[in-house]
Amino acid sequence: MKKYIVFDFDGTIVDTYEDILNIVKDLKNDKYKEINLEDIKNYGTRYLIKKSGIPFWKIPKFVYQVTSKLKKRDNIKLFPEILDVFKKLSENYNLGIVSSNSEENIRIVLKKYKIENLFEFIYSDSSIFGKHLVLKRMCRRYKINSDNVIYVGDEDRDIVAAKKARIKIIAVTWGFNSEKLLKKEKPDYLVNNPKEILEIIL
Ligand SMILES: [Mg+2]
Repeated sequence: MKKYIVFDFDGTIVDTYEDILNIVKDLKNDKYKEINLEDIKNYGTRYLIKKSGIPFWKIPKFVYQVTSKLKKRDNIKLFPEILDVFKKLSENYNLGIVSSNSEENIRIVLKKYKIENLFEFIYSDSSIFGKHLVLKRMCRRYKINSDNVIYVGDEDRDIVAAKKARIKIIAVTWGFNSEKLLKKEKPDYLVNNPKEILEIIL
């Protein structure tokens, strides 16, 4: 049985950190203006949500507002070297994407880079603080045993979610969170560039 390598999207595959922050700042909420870019890297998304004062029940709408604006950006770029990693991994593994971004946005980028066919599935779910439930639902939907998946993500909440879902996690340092913040959650693996993913898995 082929194993699965499942990737988070924003911050792991594509460099949307500044795009997302600019969108949030343009939402015309004064509280968002106080957000400091480096603070998010060091304190995480939980900090962003707390600082913005947005109530938890409004998060799905907030995610929708951000992702629908993100769709209009046509300059979204893959992180360098990740393309090669997908190509190599797809020879021996099933690849998937799990994200709170919309499936449409993700497909636009995959099509642009002609790599749509490398992925078995794209699982989109906007519950950003229930990511462990998202991972569990994903496993059920695609009939994957959690022992047969490795999840690759860029945020501390990705590590927390993977552990709760009993899935191995590779945390990447080129995304939204600092290495220091990621280390606090003790990921199974921590990588500083995409090629290191191959060293771990292959
Ligand atoms: Mg991410």
